[in-house]
Amino acid sequence: MTSLYIHIPFCKKKCNYCDFVSSAGKEELIDGYVEALIHELASLPPTFYLPPATIYLGGGTPTLLEPKYFDKIISPIIGHWKLDIGNFEISVEANPGTADKSKLKELRRLGINRLSIGAQSFNDQQLKALGRIHNSEANLRFYDDARSVGFENINLDMIFALPEQTLDQWKKDLQTALSLKPEHLSTYNLQIEQGTPLSLHVTDYLFPDEDTELTMYEHTIETLAGSGYKHYEISNFAKPGFECRHNIVYWKNGNYIGIGAGAHSHVNGKRWSNPNCIEKYLNSSFAPQPSPIVPDQSETIFMGLRLLDGLEVEKLTGFEKELAELIESGLLIRENLHIKLTRQGLYLANEVFARFV
Ligand code: SF4
Repeated sequence: MTSLYIHIPFCKKKCNYCDFVSSAGKEELIDGYVEALIHELASLPPTFYLPPATIYLGGGTPTLLEPKYFDKIISPIIGHWKLDIGNFEISVEANPGTADKSKLKELRRLGINRLSIGAQSFNDQQLKALGRIHNSEANLRFYDDARSVGFENINLDMIFALPEQTLDQWKKDLQTALSLKPEHLSTYNLQIEQGTPLSLHVTDYLFPDEDTELTMYEHTIETLAGSGYKHYEISNFAKPGFECRHNIVYWKNGNYIGIGAGAHSHVNGKRWSNPNCIEKYLNSSFAPQPSPIVPDQSETIFMGLRLLDGLEVEKLTGFEKELAELIESGLLIRENLHIKLTRQGLYLANEVFARFV
């Protein structure tokens, strides 16, 4: 089975830390972009176009689009494959400040059954430093609206190690998130990406030091485990049965087709991607051109190790030396036929992954 990812690269405003494929102020391109998405879907060779395992609309800010566009994109897919939307995962990334209750209600009616809300923080100053368009109150209202129109599977995206953030502030943020009782929580530490406005103003702020950041992560793991969330991926926690099926496909290096600007695809070991630039994407022919981007085994290893269940040991064939050294240094552990990151390995995951490139 192949999962389907659809990229919506439009945002109301570019956030200060963002290096995703997204642009602000290009709303006039939305109409043509949606037509291009539909054209790209129709251009896929029939072998790729099997009933999707999951559908995920990410961005950018998908909820910037009016419901009629969601209808145009997903209704034909649901109809064509007669997808049983009661049992099927259709996720949409949603940003507070871009959808009111009636829009959310329409999305739910169209069959979208999982919402991933980019709350990021409940501290207004920190939201401002990130350049988000919403404040804490808007986060809470948006969440309530989503619940009231029938979303029963909600993820909250949260970020820690924010500008000027103390450990206590992060604890408070996490408590606020928990008080909402989401089915899923993603908690990332802030990455300062080169070239973003935040990277140019990094000295304007005091950031938590490495030890504090580590304590924030440890606190997150302990607190969420104590509240009934399963820690199933480095940064992801879910109530039983609410793990994100779509993202698990990535982490298990399964097959997925990415549609839209900058979207990546992986089918049976072949990888390809679309142009990042919206205008270039609009002019492309959409003929998939499989070309290996990274050796597939490396991708399998470092995606698989992100999962707390680990990776089958046979998938590390050829890396026996690296494996032995990483086990020796306490970053990986072998449990029966699986290799897993240790608690220390979770903190130093990027160092571990670098050994398998
Ligand atoms: S809303 Fe998300 S994708 Fe859009 S600019 Fe902000 S961080 Fe980037």
